[in-house]
Amino acid sequence: MKEKIKVLVTDPLEQEGVQILKDAGFEVKETGKLTPDQLCGVIADYDSVIVRSATKITAEVIEKAGRLKIIGRAGVGLDNIDVEAATHAGIIVMNAPEGNTLSVAEHTIAMLMALARNIPAADHSMKNGQWEKKKYTGAELYNKTLGIIGLGRIGRRVAAIAGALGMKVLGYDPYLDKDEVEKAGITVVNLPGLLKQSDFITLHIPFNDSTRKLIGEDAFVSMKEGVSIINCSRGGIVDEEALCKYIAAGKVKGAAFDVFEKEPPPADNPLLKTEQVIVTPHLGASTKEAQINVAQQLASQIVSALTKKVIVNAVNLPSLDRDSMEKLSGYLSLGEKLGVLLKQLAGGDIKEISINYAGDIINHDLSLLRANIIIGLLKDTEKVNAVNASLILKEKGIKIKENRQESGGEFTNLVTVEVGNGTKASAAGTIIREGAERIVKINGFSVDAAPGGYLLVCYNEDKPGIMGHIGTILGEKEVNIASMTLGRSKKGGQAITVLNLDQGIDSKVLNRIEEFPAIHSVKLVRI
Ligand code: NAD
Repeated sequence: MKEKIKVLVTDPLEQEGVQILKDAGFEVKETGKLTPDQLCGVIADYDSVIVRSATKITAEVIEKAGRLKIIGRAGVGLDNIDVEAATHAGIIVMNAPEGNTLSVAEHTIAMLMALARNIPAADHSMKNGQWEKKKYTGAELYNKTLGIIGLGRIGRRVAAIAGALGMKVLGYDPYLDKDEVEKAGITVVNLPGLLKQSDFITLHIPFNDSTRKLIGEDAFVSMKEGVSIINCSRGGIVDEEALCKYIAAGKVKGAAFDVFEKEPPPADNPLLKTEQVIVTPHLGASTKEAQINVAQQLASQIVSALTKKVIVNAVNLPSLDRDSMEKLSGYLSLGEKLGVLLKQLAGGDIKEISINYAGDIINHDLSLLRANIIIGLLKDTEKVNAVNASLILKEKGIKIKENRQESGGEFTNLVTVEVGNGTKASAAGTIIREGAERIVKINGFSVDAAPGGYLLVCYNEDKPGIMGHIGTILGEKEVNIASMTLGRSKKGGQAITVLNLDQGIDSKVLNRIEEFPAIHSVKLVRI
């Protein structure tokens, strides 16, 4: 009986997600948080592990993860997962970023309103016996300018709600198409423009080297007097010390923070002691709905990846949109076969690879096709898959060149791969009617061979008697020829003979074939 797919859930996951895994026939073990040592003891049994932010997936855990294919993070941040080690081991790391969007956007708006109307401070004052109507006079949001830094999932949702409140919405995101963003009713500006014009500024960007302290001393100098800042994205993007300085100086009116440079922040963090600052303990995604959405999204993604090989939201793997997947799916398998063929034709260690993509396929993301060609070239010597293909290539010092060409000539699409290790070998393939894969060129000679099973590749002179010679020997051994193809440079010149065989032949038979004077060399390739 086929062994069940096993999933280990180490941090609390909503049952709606667990049920999706069980409905797919997976065996699910829920343990609660495990230490890296405990995980090392059990991880080898599982195909996938699901964590939130508590359980750490370290390089040591990954080393013990014999059959692990997917590490799933129910949420977004990946600080608790050694993504580099996972990539190295060819393990997909997947998160579930969409499930949180609404909750974080709504928390941001809650912060915006709480800031505008001084709600936490007024609440605190009243519970201390005060009735300070004048002190807590607020501001309307209507007609005020909200500057949104980062117009991804959450930033755009915030823009939509703020627009409905009658706010003027400015946005800054250098990685997005301006026209597309403006269609969503957001006025696109540059960062200085946003800082200068906004009454409220909200951040919805990732934390990385280029966003660390993006809102620091210089940014505060450029801001409008009386601005308020909201950060529900990641700690460290706003310089907390500089913020406190500009609040104390009266330039910044207030701030609302859900995320901090250090979480939880130390008791002496000045943000916790400033009345004009509202703080929440990283609550953005903490709603029942978000937890359920995230659990369901991640579980469905894991089921699709492990049963249908459809992979989405993998952080260490290129993901293709549906249209690209449809156009490219046949070429992914062909690419791997071209790699397998060339590895055997070239023999020895490959030092460089050159790939030429031609035809309609160049309009799609070809990184997965490239990965599949690498898999074919390296798979008999390395534990390689689409996740770690590029990394292994780099580590082995193999150079890769890629070229794109509009026309595939007589073919709608043509993928040509050349490999070198002193001598060079090349092959080109395409997909013909009804998805049939074809090798249409080997070392520059036109051929027409199906890339599957056993291929006998002979380099010979274009002289009579070659097919008779090969046919006689194979016939004696009762080896059936499924198809054959000939290619030549010119009449009587250099030529190639490629035969699809129904079974393999040993080296003695190969030697006998090679004895024919007009045959220079012969190779049996297994695809
Ligand atoms: P997303 O990937 O959909 O959007 C991020 C956007 O930021 C992208 O459009 C990107 O182009 C843009 N960007 C990147 N660097 C930028 C820069 N230097 N300047 C301007 N724009 C830049 O992500 P999302 O789902 O919208 O999440 C946004 C942030 O919210 C992330 O940091 C995420 O970690 C955080 N988040 C917080 C919570 C919480 O509990 N508070 C929960 C979920 C997500």
